[in-house]
Amino acid sequence: MSVKDNLLVIQENIEQACVRSNRTPDSVSIIAVTKYVSVETAKEAIEAGIQHIGENRDEGLLKKQEEIGNEPKWHFIGSLQTRKVKNIIDKVDYIHSLDRISLAEEIHKRANAKIKCFVQINVSGEESKHGISPEKLETFIMELEKLPSIEVVGLMTMAPYTEDRDIIRGCFQKLRKLRDDVQALDLPYAPCTELSMGMSNDFEIAIEEGATFIRIGTSLVGKEF
Ligand SMILES: *Cc1c(COP(=O)(O)O)cnc(C)c1O
Repeated sequence: MSVKDNLLVIQENIEQACVRSNRTPDSVSIIAVTKYVSVETAKEAIEAGIQHIGENRDEGLLKKQEEIGNEPKWHFIGSLQTRKVKNIIDKVDYIHSLDRISLAEEIHKRANAKIKCFVQINVSGEESKHGISPEKLETFIMELEKLPSIEVVGLMTMAPYTEDRDIIRGCFQKLRKLRDDVQALDLPYAPCTELSMGMSNDFEIAIEEGATFIRIGTSLVGKEF
């Protein structure tokens, strides 16, 4: 199937998940995750109507952006090494992986403008996962006040790798609750209205639980390398 056909199927599934949860499809943005595909395939996604591209490595992002330009919004979705911040800081529209204060300080130091960040949360507590633990979130958010280049637009998580849909749903519900808690703090630098959650295998559940950005790789653009 072409990227365009894949997108039609995904859009249909998004619509159905929105119907089930009383939402409108335009409240969900698709980020096409192009880390495993060529520039050509990423371009196909844009021709099919995709407006957001996600990459998890600085090299991959810069290489694709050079050829594609700034028509789509660029999302950095992978764990971000502090020393790589300078490579991407003025190139990306969103960073989804803010997970420690040293990274926040580097982003603030290097940024020439406000940068939209998602705080990554390790909801499931798996040791292999990046992200701040739910208990430490509020303290972390308060610490960001002194770094005004950072705008906390929302929270991001990756569900645990499991077949158990209830566990996945529980993870997304917790992220939404945490998002609501941060929003209720009413901090000017942390509007925290967005939820970045849901990938190829679990985006319908994520939408039912309130995702506003879903990050779709394999089922949209495939996997070439
Ligand atoms: C690779 C990746 C995705 C996309 O995963 P698929 O299962 O291929 O849809 C989403 N989010 C992050 C953070 C990723 O690294």
